[in-house]
Amino acid sequence: MAGDAVAEVKSRLDLVEVIGGYVTLHRAGRELTGLCPFHAEKTPSFAVNPERQVWFCHGCGKGGDLFHFIQQIERIDFREALEMLADRAGVELESGPRSDRGAGRKRRRSIELNGKAQAYYQHVLWATDAGERGRALLIDRRIDEALARRFGVGFAPAGGAGEDALTRYLTGKAGAGVDEVVEAGLAHPPGRGRTRDRFRDRLVFPIRDDRGEVLGFGARALGDARPKYLNSPDSAAYHKSSAIFGIDLARTAIVAKHAAVIVEGYFDVIAAHAAGVEHTVASSGTALTREQVHSLGRLAETLILCFDGDEAGRVAATRAVDVIAVEGVQARICRLPAAFKDPDELVRSDPAAFAQAIEEAPPAWQVLLDAALGAGEGGSVDARRAGAERAVSVLARIPEATTRELYLQQAARRLDIGARSLSTDLAHSMRDGTRRPGRIVVAAPAETTPDTAEESEPVEADEPMPPWEAQLARVVLIRPEMAAA
Ligand code: ZN
Repeated sequence: MAGDAVAEVKSRLDLVEVIGGYVTLHRAGRELTGLCPFHAEKTPSFAVNPERQVWFCHGCGKGGDLFHFIQQIERIDFREALEMLADRAGVELESGPRSDRGAGRKRRRSIELNGKAQAYYQHVLWATDAGERGRALLIDRRIDEALARRFGVGFAPAGGAGEDALTRYLTGKAGAGVDEVVEAGLAHPPGRGRTRDRFRDRLVFPIRDDRGEVLGFGARALGDARPKYLNSPDSAAYHKSSAIFGIDLARTAIVAKHAAVIVEGYFDVIAAHAAGVEHTVASSGTALTREQVHSLGRLAETLILCFDGDEAGRVAATRAVDVIAVEGVQARICRLPAAFKDPDELVRSDPAAFAQAIEEAPPAWQVLLDAALGAGEGGSVDARRAGAERAVSVLARIPEATTRELYLQQAARRLDIGARSLSTDLAHSMRDGTRRPGRIVVAAPAETTPDTAEESEPVEADEPMPPWEAQLARVVLIRPEMAAA
C-alpha cells in the first residue's frame, strides 16, 4: 500500500540530507537554514527542522514534508515523487504489473554495471600506462584531474587482442554475465564466439541521471579514428532522447538560477563548469528533444542555447527554439564572439567573456526576428518587403499570442509599415502553414550526431526549412551586425 511505502521511505531517508542536495544549509540553533529554492532571496528564510522532519520558508510561505519538497522542487506529482524517493531509499513499490518490476530490475542491473564500468575506466585513465593518451588529451583541453574526476571522465583501453578488457573485468571480478554486459550497452553481442567491448581506445564521459547514477557513456575517439563520437545504445537504463549530460552536477545551479544553459559537446559542458557557469548541460547523441526540454523545464523557466558557431550548430539552435517553445519554456540564444567556434574554445581563451555572453543572452525570438528583418530595416521598398516576409515566417512560429503580438508590433515599427498589414500577412501565413506538406527528413550534420555511421539516424523535422530560414540559421549565432549585412 502507498501509505506503508510513504512511511517506509520517510523512515529511511533524512530530510536534511535530501534537501541538502538542492540547498546549502547552515545550522542555526535547532534548525538549519538556507536560501529558499522557491523564491529569489539574498538572506536565508528557508528553514529545515531535523527533529520534526519538516521544512518551511518564512519568505514565500511554502512548507511541508519530504514529499512536498520533492514534488515542488522537481515539479512532479505525488506518484512520481514516491517512485523517485522509493528508488532512492531502496523501497520496492508493490503496485505495477509484474513486467514493470522485471524492467526495473534490469534497469538497476544496467546502472550497476555502468557504474562499475565508470570506476574501471577512471582507473585506466589515471593509474595505467594505457591511459596516457587520454591524460594528454585532457591536458590539451586544460581540464585538470579534479575537474575530470567530478565528471567521471575515464579511458576505455583498446582491450588487447580480444578487444574485451572491460568485459573480462566485469564478468570476472564483478561477477556479471556476458549477456548482462551486452544488455548494459557496454559490449557488442558475441559474434563468431567472441564479445568485444563497445568502447575501445576512447576517452569516455559517463552520462548520469540527476542523482549521479551512470546510465551510459559518450565516448570520444583519439586522433582521427572514426566515428569521432560513439554513444551507448538505448538500454533499460539509457534513453538517448531523455538523457542529459551533466545534469547531476548542474541541477542545483539550474534551480538556483532558474535557467539552464544548453551546449553541444561534453568538453563544452566541462569548460562551462570550469568557468563557473555551473548550470550547463548538453544533450548527447541527438538534437535537443522535447523530453529533455520537458525535464529541464521542470527545474528552470529559461533555457539558454549556446551552440557551436558553425552551420550545423546554427541550424540546431534554430530548430531547438521551436522545440522549447512548444514546451512553453522561454528560450534565449547566446551568441559567441565570431572568432570562437564553440564554448570550449571561448572558455579556454576568456572564461569571463563566456560567463558574460551567457548572462546577456537575448530572447531567442528577438534574435530570430533581428536576423529576419536584416537589411529590411531602413532599406528600400523591396528590401522592406522582403524583410516583412521573413519576419512573418518567424512570427508564425511563436506559439503564444501575446508574445507574437508584441514582436509583430516591434517588426512593423522597425520596417516602418502598419502593424495591420503585417498582421494580415501573418494570418494568411499561419492559415497556409496548416496546409504545408508533412514531415520531411533532414540528414543531420555529422558533428551533431556523435554516433557510429551505422547507428546514426536522420533527424526528423516537422516542417521543411525554407531557403531563407537556412540563411537565417547562418546568421543566428554570429554578432547581430552580421544579420544586417
Ligand atoms: Zn521561499
